[in-house]
Amino acid sequence: MRKGLDTMEQTTAVRRLVVVGGGISGLVAAYRLATQAGPADPGPQPEGRTEIVVLESSPTVGGKLAVAEVGGVTVDVGAESMLARRPEGVGLLAELGLDDEVVHPRAASASVLSRGNLYPLPPGTVMGVPVDRTRLSGLAGILDEEEVARVGHESRREVLRVTEDIDVASWVTWRMGRAVVDRLVEPLLGGVYAGNADRLSLRATVPQLWQRARAGRPLLDAYTQPEVTGPGGPVFAGLRGGVGQLPLVLARGIEDAGGEVRTGVTVRGLTRTGQGWRLETGPAGSPDFLDADGVILAVPPAAAARLLAAEVPAAAEGLGAVETASVAVVAAAVPREQLEGVTGTGLLIPPIENRLIKAATFSSNKWRWVSDENRSEHLIVRLSLGRAREETVLQRDDTELSDLAVAELSDVLRREVRPADTKVVRWGGALPQYEVGHLDRVHRIREAVAGVRGLAVCGAVFDGVGIPACIAAADRAVHDLGTTVRIDLRTLASGPRV
Ligand SMILES: Cc1cc2nc3c(=O)[nH]c(=O)nc-3n(C[C@H](O)[C@H](O)[C@H](O)COP(=O)(O)OP(=O)(O)OC[C@H]3O[C@@H](n4cnc5c(N)ncnc54)[C@H](O)[C@@H]3O)c2cc1C
Repeated sequence: MRKGLDTMEQTTAVRRLVVVGGGISGLVAAYRLATQAGPADPGPQPEGRTEIVVLESSPTVGGKLAVAEVGGVTVDVGAESMLARRPEGVGLLAELGLDDEVVHPRAASASVLSRGNLYPLPPGTVMGVPVDRTRLSGLAGILDEEEVARVGHESRREVLRVTEDIDVASWVTWRMGRAVVDRLVEPLLGGVYAGNADRLSLRATVPQLWQRARAGRPLLDAYTQPEVTGPGGPVFAGLRGGVGQLPLVLARGIEDAGGEVRTGVTVRGLTRTGQGWRLETGPAGSPDFLDADGVILAVPPAAAARLLAAEVPAAAEGLGAVETASVAVVAAAVPREQLEGVTGTGLLIPPIENRLIKAATFSSNKWRWVSDENRSEHLIVRLSLGRAREETVLQRDDTELSDLAVAELSDVLRREVRPADTKVVRWGGALPQYEVGHLDRVHRIREAVAGVRGLAVCGAVFDGVGIPACIAAADRAVHDLGTTVRIDLRTLASGPRV
């Protein structure tokens, strides 16, 4: 990967498409462009061949997909798995020839903390919402008897059609009682969005249940509906060595196909030129420029809003209005004997329990490759902290943050945990909040961008924060770009300039 940015090559006849942001979204978009534009020519570059360039501000690619070493083991410290029931993530791994490296979590169960005690996560739920009347006994303990009875009476309650987007908490409270929100929905939603059920959109975050709300149908008979429970097969997939390896494989694929990935380059400005775009990078005092026929923005919403403020203010306004949550991961290598008898894959802690940590993943239990890697005396545990609008929790130095997180884990597990090594990784502004009305906002942003020649957008703010959703949005951005610059990427290597 090349560091830095060359000075502008204004006069070159080579078409250039630039992807801003080298997270999973930007890398997938660039990979598609590079591979569709044809493999790298072993000889001299044919005139007119499209140049594909990724500009990434960090020293490495990957964004929220990253690995780091703790206790001598390299593990994921950002995203660690992907939904396998959507085709995009596992499909990409297959396309990259990584089938043999695909892994699935062990079948052990996870727990949830309720009133200070740990209980197995109940089966028959969707994002924590019970949808199977035959499995209500699994709620016992997490909910008290009265709260379980309230859930059981759900279908007796009047069923009204919901006509407009609504927050998850209001709807679930209305159907099943607040305890379901506080003790089951919050920990699961918090795991995905680091958000708050009182603000998150039912339509955007739990679309299966939104469909039922719209149809005015009760929840407890939903378990038999495939559109609610999803197809069979493993729910999650990972990559041996960590999904944090995926960006490196993609970057290599882009470069093998003749594209370029430039790290340590922050794009500070984006202006329209007669035919395309000019990107400004480098220090404000002595900027560098790069011209492009097309640009895909694959950066978080605040960065995208800044870059679009002058040229597409309507899109910038929508993007700038999206709140984000900052989170942190404390990875810990814990002496094996200290976790003797801890068998599950992890535990979830709802905000109502008043703890700093919101989840612990016992990575060595969850992923065979982690335990294989780490036959040593340590087990790897990932502790997650941080929720939307609670940034102050993270305003501690690394030592204090990891000490607090570990002390809470000790408390919850009722045993002393003293890690041999810890690693704190902070993810500022990491997770866009899909609040009520989010999908309409996304629609407006896309509409504003759609009329603009040579511009497309993607990233975790659009179609879901999960890796498969980011891949889908990247694919869509590549398609969208092709519609406004009217190019057939397959013919670009020898095609005319448009
Ligand atoms: C701790 C954590 C755990 C997660 N776990 C999971 C999980 O297990 N499964 C799952 O599916 N999802 C998970 N997610 C969500 C998922 O990882 C992210 O939503 C997804 O990786 C976002 O990818 P992206 O490319 O859209 O954005 P990012 O990863 O944020 O990438 C954007 C890139 O743009 C760069 N950039 C920003 N501004 C500029 C600029 N001006 N110029 C150049 N470059 C710029 C950034 O440096 C960054 O590399 C997790 C997220 C976090 C934070």
